[in-house]
Amino acid sequence: MKFYSLQDRSYIRSFREATIMGQAPGRGLFFPERIPQLPVETIQSLKELPREEIAFQLIAPYAGDDIDTAALRHIVSETIDFPVPLVQVQEQQFALELFHGPTLAFKDTGARFMSRCLGYFVQGENRPVTVLVATSGDTGGAVADGFYGVDGVEVVILYPSGKVSTVQEKQLTTLGKNIRALEVKGSFDDCQRLVKAAFADESLNRELFLTSANSINVARWLPQQFYYAFALQQWQHQQAPVLCVPSGNFGNICAGLLARASGLPLGHFIAACNVNDVVVRYLQAGAYHPQPAVATLSNAMDVGEPSNFVRILELFEQNLEQVKMALSGYTVTDEETRQMILSLLQTTGYLADPHGAVGFTALSRYQETHPGQKGIVLETAHPVKFFDVVEPITGQPVALPASVQARMELEKKAVLLEADYASLRDYLLS
Ligand SMILES: *Cc1c(COP(=O)(O)O)cnc(C)c1O
Repeated sequence: MKFYSLQDRSYIRSFREATIMGQAPGRGLFFPERIPQLPVETIQSLKELPREEIAFQLIAPYAGDDIDTAALRHIVSETIDFPVPLVQVQEQQFALELFHGPTLAFKDTGARFMSRCLGYFVQGENRPVTVLVATSGDTGGAVADGFYGVDGVEVVILYPSGKVSTVQEKQLTTLGKNIRALEVKGSFDDCQRLVKAAFADESLNRELFLTSANSINVARWLPQQFYYAFALQQWQHQQAPVLCVPSGNFGNICAGLLARASGLPLGHFIAACNVNDVVVRYLQAGAYHPQPAVATLSNAMDVGEPSNFVRILELFEQNLEQVKMALSGYTVTDEETRQMILSLLQTTGYLADPHGAVGFTALSRYQETHPGQKGIVLETAHPVKFFDVVEPITGQPVALPASVQARMELEKKAVLLEADYASLRDYLLS
């Protein structure tokens, strides 16, 4: 499979090149030149197939030219080496728990897959690759964990000072070895701006072999299709499920829409957003106005200008009416998020994290006008990752899993950085 740049359709690269580059010149996102179709037999026998097999079939058309079959199967099975249970929360609402990986959030899937692909690809390179990544909270931990100890890969993570949770910050800043954390005096958008500036800096790129690990990277984006198939493997109802995806940069939901376009029998999609809702407003009014990100309780979705939305438009051939037939969007405030965490716990015993709570609120609102449609919320993080938010709401402690407990005791190591590009450049070159 080849990938073209959404900035310049004549700019075409292989999976290997697109993975190493991260993005095309002019900040173009790579997009596959065709949408592969799953064999009918696969779709009919979804429930009988091993998870490794369905995941392999989803990814092989994209990566199979550049990674030999045995290696790709190995990468896939390592990537999905943890359960993804579908839990019934109420009569019409289910949670697909994506937080059973090592850093307790769904980004583990993409980060584990990408790090292993990059490790495979750099075997033949003679200088180290530097993965430069901006995080609003969860990406950094997943990337740090995924790349920890991978030979030939250095990782530099930028995160907004004071805007990530305690557990997130520990996951970013305590590994050491080939993982370094920069605590930026600014917002996530500042971090992303700095990273983009570094990629656009030609003289810097002559010095360093830079790549990204944000959700724009095809090797992070594409494996996120896997768990939509895992959801269907556990789905016991005739009607296709509605999928409600807590969304920030829109990579996860875009992967779901891609899996649907490849033939997975998934129903309508809902983008559940906090007040950073440029896409929701676009779906309602047809005008796209990115805005600076506002800090919310669901901080991994505090994104003012979602990078992956252009991929959704491309998937639907720039036809807004088609997009709207597949996708609805809802805005959820912090107050509604708090109420949902509490009411869900009180009525069902289910403890959602703030991102999942945004999802349950959006799904409930959709179901008010679409009664009888069962839906799945992608529960994107474990509530303990946000215990600072959750505990004051529920008044109960969230038990720390042992892996997290061990991390909390390690010392934070981060370099404080001004939110200007000159500072980042100096740091990278020093
Ligand atoms: C990153 C993240 C999101 C948003 O995912 P996108 O792919 O950026 O839309 C939602 N929830 C959690 C917990 C996250 O870490």
